[in-house]
Amino acid sequence: MSSSPAHTDARPDDRDIREELGLRPIVNVSGTMTALGASIMVPEAIAAMAAIAPEFVEIDQLQRAASRVIARLTGGEAGFVTASCASGIAVAIAGAMTRDNLLAIERLPDATGLNSEVLLQVGHMVSYGAPVEQSVRLAGGTVVPVGTVSSSYGYQLEEAITDRTSSALYVVSHHTVQYGMIGLDEFCEVCHARGIPVIVDAASEYDLKGFLARGADIVLYSGHKFLGGPTTGIVAGRKDLVRAAYLQNRGIGRGMKVGKESVAGVMAALEAWERRDHAGIRERERAALQLWEGALSRIPGIVAEIVPDPTDNPLDRLVVQVLPESGFTATSLAAALAAGDPPVIVRDHEKERGHFYLDPCNLHPGEAEIVAARLETTLKASNTARFQEAGRSSAREKILSWPD
Ligand SMILES: *Cc1c(COP(=O)(O)O)cnc(C)c1O
Repeated sequence: MSSSPAHTDARPDDRDIREELGLRPIVNVSGTMTALGASIMVPEAIAAMAAIAPEFVEIDQLQRAASRVIARLTGGEAGFVTASCASGIAVAIAGAMTRDNLLAIERLPDATGLNSEVLLQVGHMVSYGAPVEQSVRLAGGTVVPVGTVSSSYGYQLEEAITDRTSSALYVVSHHTVQYGMIGLDEFCEVCHARGIPVIVDAASEYDLKGFLARGADIVLYSGHKFLGGPTTGIVAGRKDLVRAAYLQNRGIGRGMKVGKESVAGVMAALEAWERRDHAGIRERERAALQLWEGALSRIPGIVAEIVPDPTDNPLDRLVVQVLPESGFTATSLAAALAAGDPPVIVRDHEKERGHFYLDPCNLHPGEAEIVAARLETTLKASNTARFQEAGRSSAREKILSWPD
């Protein structure tokens, strides 16, 4: 079976470039995070990027070849590669507004005269590091909120459609409200009855075919998440809408451009995905989870449990509840792990609720054992090393002082 990003030693020699760059050698158990460098790139992608780097190519032809690979893997009619999933949202929304009007494409984000309303459930207005609505506004679109933060109904979607509606955006993510929302099937049904295309943000989903199969007109993925490709966005679906989105490279998409190396890299990652030993990876991930669960079971004040992914990706995580007897809070334990040697970065977006997660999907060989050892030594040191609670405001101060 072919190699995979998880657990394969993608470091060809002993060189760790991070040392040369003065960067901390972090161990990533938080998942696929832009702020940590996304994922371990598969060797096939790295090789393709190196091979195309010195060559001249006709980019439209290269993107035609990418379209064929994307169509095969997603079941869509066509596809192309852009800079990121966030850019994919912007160019797909823009394409639904301009269609193939080249002058309108050059005029965006001034949407004068275009249908520019975009429907979005309130419970889908998430941030993935930037607010999803901003990708709509960047395209000149106006978000029309549907429903409330805790419930949305089909009639609310239907009655929000006007003669200025250009598309409807649907977000698939653990960040969205996970109950009370309109499901994709009903969402597509209501929109299609009025001729409104549905654009699905599936940035971090394994399932490359399901959303188009269920009715989405466009689906968007990140190339650098589960696929283990370079930083890219994949746009796939109905040919006329994919073409209209591609044409935005002559407009707002120019600032979201990808080079030949990124297109070739993500094509190779997609082909590697077809050959990947998905079951073998799952088994190695489970071994890591069990190792950590075992290590934590001996520690008072820590309760750990293996839980499935909230959007049904074939990926489990370990949820670690941190009780006062441990001498830590979830926040201070995460901070202690991140401050240690080597730094271990956990998945801590729910730390205020007293827990964090350990995600096994981005490990190099030997790192699962390092994480287990760091958990044990950090928790044993709880009485001597107290960590400051770092609140949300300190994160703001930290970024505002960049690059100092
Ligand atoms: C990660 C993510 C994005 C952003 O993807 P990029 O490719 O990093 O721009 C958008 N939507 C969701 C649901 C995500 O998880």
